[in-house]
Amino acid sequence: MTRLIFLGPPGAGKGTQAKKLSEKCGVPHISTGDILRTAVALKTSLGLEADAYMTRGDLVPDKLILGLIGERLTAEDTASGWILDGFPRNVEQATFLDELLVELMQPYECVINLEVPDEIIISRLIQRSSIEGRADDNEEAIANRLEVYRQRTEPLIAFYRGRQKLVSVDGNQPIENVTSALTDIVQA
Ligand code: AMP
Repeated sequence: MTRLIFLGPPGAGKGTQAKKLSEKCGVPHISTGDILRTAVALKTSLGLEADAYMTRGDLVPDKLILGLIGERLTAEDTASGWILDGFPRNVEQATFLDELLVELMQPYECVINLEVPDEIIISRLIQRSSIEGRADDNEEAIANRLEVYRQRTEPLIAFYRGRQKLVSVDGNQPIENVTSALTDIVQA
């Protein structure tokens, strides 16, 4: 049963690797960033509320995210596994997720922490901005996203280490090498 949570700073490769693993394992890849970007593009009420936070590189308020994750993890296609990418992003979200998964009787297998040095992350994000044109891949938003990561998301490393669920993987290597390290972990 594949139930994985990806942690790591923006630009660590969470999306790329989560997508590959989800294809390999045949379980949905759930990216809150993708869900929010779609909502922004479609100008749904969620998108209209989230837009300004995302453009600045701030986290959108938990009240916009928690219900959405609750719904997604009770959908039929997630009954046999999932890969979370971009959620949880703070201790409140992680606590909510713990409680939800107990309720759903869906324990997670492990939390993968993709480790990449700051200077590599910044150059990856700047490079991505010219390819994908994401609104939040400009210099100011990148700096804010890294700061938000340090303040709000990084404490989750200790949170999950305390639950003996954390596995760290070197994300500063070629994509295929990261994928094969992750495949080994999932198959172990
Ligand atoms: P990502 O694609 O995961 O880097 O997310 C892009 C942006 O979407 C973030 O900078 C946040 O503004 C927002 N976002 C994505 N996931 C979350 C989350 N779990 N909680 C709050 N905001 C989020």
